[in-house]
Amino acid sequence: TRAVYLRERPPGGEPRPEHFEVRDAPVPERAEGQLLVRNLFMSVDPSMRGRLATSELHYTTNFQVDEPLDGSALGIVVEGNREVPVGSYVRHRLGWRDHAVVDTAAATVIDPRGIELHHWLGVLGQTGFTAYAGLVRAGEIRSGDDVFVSAAAGAVGSTAGQFAKLLGASSVIGSAGGSEKAALLTDRLGFDAGLDYRAAPIGAALREAAPDGIDLYFDNVGGDHLVAALSSLRQRGRVALCGMISNGGPDSPPIDHLMNCILKRITIRGFIVRDHEDLRPEFEDRVAGWLAAGDLVAESTIYDGLDNAVDAFLSMLGGGNVGKMLVGLA
Ligand code: NDP
Repeated sequence: TRAVYLRERPPGGEPRPEHFEVRDAPVPERAEGQLLVRNLFMSVDPSMRGRLATSELHYTTNFQVDEPLDGSALGIVVEGNREVPVGSYVRHRLGWRDHAVVDTAAATVIDPRGIELHHWLGVLGQTGFTAYAGLVRAGEIRSGDDVFVSAAAGAVGSTAGQFAKLLGASSVIGSAGGSEKAALLTDRLGFDAGLDYRAAPIGAALREAAPDGIDLYFDNVGGDHLVAALSSLRQRGRVALCGMISNGGPDSPPIDHLMNCILKRITIRGFIVRDHEDLRPEFEDRVAGWLAAGDLVAESTIYDGLDNAVDAFLSMLGGGNVGKMLVGLA
């Protein structure tokens, strides 16, 4: 079997192809209480960048040099047990390899309900769940809200914008890099406006698109986007702080902009999706229903094969994806 290994930690935190390597490994032995899974799809996540470093703040553990990467994956059980028989589909954390030995307790059995498998790592997986929990819990979305979503052509953002509408928002503005992505937001995903943050400063573009302000900002980007939102938020506005993919650059704006939170009584609430598991059944039922009814467009960009997995990751960091970035192994 094969897996993607970390060869060396990227100096300066900027990952490049030579920092990774696909290596052969023996098919792992399965012990009592474990499953042997052949992976079919692997999730590509921005949080992996932080996990390549030793020092950065991140949600989970560091990757180790000369060890395989890991991440969310969906596969089929090839050696199972009574609890999870051969042929079951399972979601688990040991991606970035063809085969994984997974503790039965660490595998979630997926009933695809007639929905294409890869969506269970996208709109019906952690991606969609992040959008849902972020809007409902951190953002306390209300009927009639005017909402702004950044990285809106990406995985979480494209679902967050659509969910916001389905959950009662009056209007949803999205931002993305490039005119094509900005057009996709309005033409295909039902956003009311799509802003190309590369064409004009995001603060001015947001003020023009929402002259009367916004109620809720779903932040995937941080930096200039967060500053723009703080400036456009109304009194008692809310921010669901999901991610900060632009952060850490020398051009990061000063923190003084937080003064807006005082003047306008703004609530900023950070969240991590894994704290909201109690919402999962409600989330799956609603989203499966929206998909079946044709109310939701689930975009994804799928790279093929383990050899292209690192390219998929690097491309996603540079904005090469529309919707959920995945690697298919079938
Ligand atoms: P995306 O599919 O959104 O991919 C990342 C996108 O970020 C790229 O496509 C690119 O789109 C955009 N981007 C990259 N650099 C910049 C930049 N400097 N400024 C603005 N946009 C940039 O990834 P995900 O949907 O998986 O993740 C979105 C966010 O959600 C991330 O910040 C991630 O860390 C966070 N997250 C948080 C979770 C939580 O529990 N809090 C759980 C999961 C994800 P473009 O072409 O538009 O620039």
